[in-house]
Amino acid sequence: MSDPILAVNNIEVIYDHVILVLKGVSLTVPKGGIVAILGANGAGKTTTLKAISNLLHAERGEVTKGDILFKGEAVQDRSPNELVRRGCIQVMEGRHCFGHLTVEENLLTGAFTRTDGRAAIRADLEKVYGFFPRLKVRRQSQAGYTSGGEQQMVAIGRALMSRPDMILLDEPSMGLAPQIVEEIFEIVRRLNASEGVSFLLAEQNTNVALRYATYGYILESGRVVLDGDAKALRENEDVKEFYLGVA
Ligand code: ATP
Repeated sequence: MSDPILAVNNIEVIYDHVILVLKGVSLTVPKGGIVAILGANGAGKTTTLKAISNLLHAERGEVTKGDILFKGEAVQDRSPNELVRRGCIQVMEGRHCFGHLTVEENLLTGAFTRTDGRAAIRADLEKVYGFFPRLKVRRQSQAGYTSGGEQQMVAIGRALMSRPDMILLDEPSMGLAPQIVEEIFEIVRRLNASEGVSFLLAEQNTNVALRYATYGYILESGRVVLDGDAKALRENEDVKEFYLGVA
């Protein structure tokens, strides 16, 4: 494998000084990969993403062991904003749009770290509308009144406005109808193929995640219990029985 864009090496995460939640998690994302972190509710998927983007402090969590390298550089001590400037951004679970702002205003907030001027930002806004034509139609609507699928698109579109090399995507399928879930994952695939954005996504929906990801890690109680190419995982008997419900 060429140099990975992200390498997480044996990290431990503790909440409130005592609750050990990640017990030595390691994973890598190759440049241009789509990697899925899978597992049941509470397995530690969100904690893993927040550890990478340094968002644990707000929840009294900390990485107490291991290291995290983004583009070969240790990033544990970088603020979330610095990480965004370096090209890694997280789209939070639950989407977190600014409900009182319009769709377009939400998208523009994603350009907050940029210093390359209005014309470039405008051009990227048009690019985002190219990926999400629905958002162009809805651009003057208050984001809080758009559908769940549209809000997920706003959240991804806003992340794109920072010109990321990598997006950490937390439960993109949550609460969405199957058809909308496919639409969102198709866009992930297109962004990956045409823009070269790497993705690390956390998903409880193993079925859809393993159809779009190239590689997967299965977490149970804060540990990776299985990892492999998406195709191999789809054919693994344990995965079929416990995560795909098809055994
Ligand atoms: P979900 O699908 O529910 O988001 P998850 O796999 O993403 O599940 P996490 O949210 O990372 O799991 O949670 C992992 C474990 O850490 C759970 O047992 C959860 O109760 C615990 N946890 C999460 N946040 C905190 C916190 N702020 N303080 C204490 N424990 C926490």
